[in-house]
Amino acid sequence: MIAPDLETAISRLSELIEGSRAIVPFTGAGISTECGIPDFRSPGGLWTKNQPIQFEDFLASQDMRNESWRRRFAMEENFSQAKPGRGHRALASLYRAGKVPGLVTQNIDNLHQESGIAARDIVELHGNTRYAVCLDCTRRYELAWVRDKFSRGNHCAPDCDCGGYIKTATVSFGQAMPVEPMQRAEELSRDCDLFLAIGSSLVVWPAAGFPLMAKRNGAALVIINREPTEFDDVADLVARHDIGEVLAPFIAH
Ligand SMILES: [Zn+2]
Repeated sequence: MIAPDLETAISRLSELIEGSRAIVPFTGAGISTECGIPDFRSPGGLWTKNQPIQFEDFLASQDMRNESWRRRFAMEENFSQAKPGRGHRALASLYRAGKVPGLVTQNIDNLHQESGIAARDIVELHGNTRYAVCLDCTRRYELAWVRDKFSRGNHCAPDCDCGGYIKTATVSFGQAMPVEPMQRAEELSRDCDLFLAIGSSLVVWPAAGFPLMAKRNGAALVIINREPTEFDDVADLVARHDIGEVLAPFIAH
């Protein structure tokens, strides 16, 4: 059912939330746009102007590693100043109420953690851009440290003491999807009774498989997204409205 208006969307969603015991939110870029984080894949988004750097190119060339870090630091103001939006706060409220065993996100902005959901209950399919890791020894590096080295070192990306390359803790194009988060996302999708797909176009596989997995296992499926998605036909509720407006009534005060 496609909600004819915002009020209907909110009241139907409210009924579904009331009647469920395990809600799994699955979030994409749309939930963070009101926080000042651009949707990289959208028309006019960064990736339509700047081709994303493929993982194999990052590995192959110092120039690409430098360029990758230059781009990342150019975005730092967006990321460091972003605060959780209404959607994040609503989901954190459901989490605190004990209704959300875990949340799956395609976002790398750390805003679900900042909204108060414990990091252990957040499954990040594409990693996190708010810190960096050595690709060889997995040692963690803070961005401030990388930035300092980068600017002192003539805009040259620093390496780890072990000789490995340091990269934001994100999953780049061409980089393998992390095994453990994929497994956890599958488990959460299978075991929930309400799956909320929020702000994702649901086109990127394998991530796009989770709503169907949930649906096949008997969960109700809700899609909140400005644009139509491929799964609107099988969803129990589709809200093509502003995410913040749909979810604001669910923020506990
Ligand atoms: Zn290392």
